[in-house]
This record gives sequence, C-alpha cells and structure tokens, in this order.
Amino acid sequence: MLKLGFNEATCKENSTVEKDLELCEKYGYDYIELRLDMLKAYFQTHTIGDLQSFFANSHLKPFAFNSIEDINFNTPAQWDKLVDLFKFGCETAQAIGNPYMIVVPTMTQEICTKNEKEVFEDSVEVLNKLADIAEPYGVSCSFEPIGDRRWCCNSVRQALEIVQAVNRKSVGLTVDCINFYMHDKCADVDYIRKIPKDKLFVYHINDCEDLPLGILDHCHRIMPGKGCIPVAEISRAVMDVGYDGPACLELFRPEYWDMDAEQVIQMGAECCAPFLK
Ligand code: ZN
Repeated sequence: MLKLGFNEATCKENSTVEKDLELCEKYGYDYIELRLDMLKAYFQTHTIGDLQSFFANSHLKPFAFNSIEDINFNTPAQWDKLVDLFKFGCETAQAIGNPYMIVVPTMTQEICTKNEKEVFEDSVEVLNKLADIAEPYGVSCSFEPIGDRRWCCNSVRQALEIVQAVNRKSVGLTVDCINFYMHDKCADVDYIRKIPKDKLFVYHINDCEDLPLGILDHCHRIMPGKGCIPVAEISRAVMDVGYDGPACLELFRPEYWDMDAEQVIQMGAECCAPFLK
C-alpha cells in the first residue's frame, strides 16, 4: 500500500502553500512535498510557527522539499548560492519534521556531453558535501535522475550506482514515473526492483502524453492513468521493493495551472487512488 502525496509543482502557478495545505487536507492527502520557492513566498506573510501549528493540527504531513537543482559541476559562486538555498531548506525541514530534500543533477541546454565517469565522480563528491550539511539537521537527500538527456544523470541505474558509492544512510533515490519513462520508455520496469528498500526514499507519480523521446517534456505530464506510462507496473515495482511511503503527484502541466487549484487537487486524489494498492 502506498500513501497519497501531493507535490506542489502540480499547482505551482495557480496556488500557494496556504491553499495547497488546506486543499490537500480537505481531499485526504497524507503527505505534501513543499516547494522551496513557494515556501519563500509563504514566509513573506507567515512564520515557521504557522507551518508547525498547521501540521500539528492536520492529518497532512510534510515529506520532501523540492528541489535543489543543478547540483553538479558548479562554479564556487554557483555552489555558494546552492548551499544558501539548501541550508534554508534544511532549517525549515528540521523545524517542521520534513524528512527529505529532493536533489537534482545538472541540466545543460543541449544533450549533456559529460561522460559517465565524470558524472559519477562529481555526483559522489557533491552528494557527500550536501549530506555533510544535511545530516546535523536530521535531513536526508533524495537524488532524482531526470530521464531527458540534457540532464547529466538520467537513469535509475546510473543514480543507483552513485548513491551506492556514496553509501550513507542519508542519501537515497527518488523514482519518478516520467523520468523513468523518458530514459528508455520503461524498457525494463523490473530494474526498479534492484533498488534496496533503504535506498528508495521518494516516489513521484505521474503519466504523460504519447510523444517521441526528444520531444516529450515535463509540460506533457498528465494525471496518472490518462497517458502512456505503465504507471500500475511502476507502482507495483516500487511496492515490491518494500516502499510504503507516499506516491506524490508531480505534474508541470500548463493546462492544470489554468484550472482552479481545487479542481486539480480533487482530480489528483481520484486519479492516484487506483495506483496506491
Ligand atoms: Zn519528480
């Protein structure tokens, strides 16, 4: 059994942290993945105490912050900026009991030309540096390979080798349906079963339109069950690993941003339900 989770990207253009919290609680979500940019906006008019009191009085619980992006191959200036945002996330996470931070490999404008060894070595180094910062806050890093070839780490296989080499309890993986699909159209769903239970931290659920790889992008994400990804098979593989946390609905679909957030969040709960058991 999986729990129901909501990732704030799904309504990032038509909602706010306050609204997402209220609506996710109303429609029976168990967990929420808050976005760091939306949290910064929230703190313009709210305090950490407001957030703590919401979670203390709600069924909904925080799960993962999204996201620390472009973690590889940073210049010193880029790295300092990244660490500032990462520390803001760790402090907030500790204050509200949010266990995970999603960390994402670096994206280039064209297909990434770094070779596997370069990506491996850099990823092991930066994940260790981030874990050194996060562990004192009780926060774990969930590394998410992004299937498109513009991202330097784009398969579960590559990401798993990296987190196994890092070999720290606080560093694991995010499996995301469209990112898994974008790598090779889910040629080997069974590969997910190779992830050890203690390395599978987060599961992002979504589906996508049937478009050729190379054209397919994150804006083509769609509600689970409405596209061409074998979502049921992926969810089954995730459960077979022993993962029993939330399937967090993560979409970046402009069509949903044009709708009323309440309608999207309600539809999300309904569309995810068949894949949770
Ligand atoms: Zn994701």
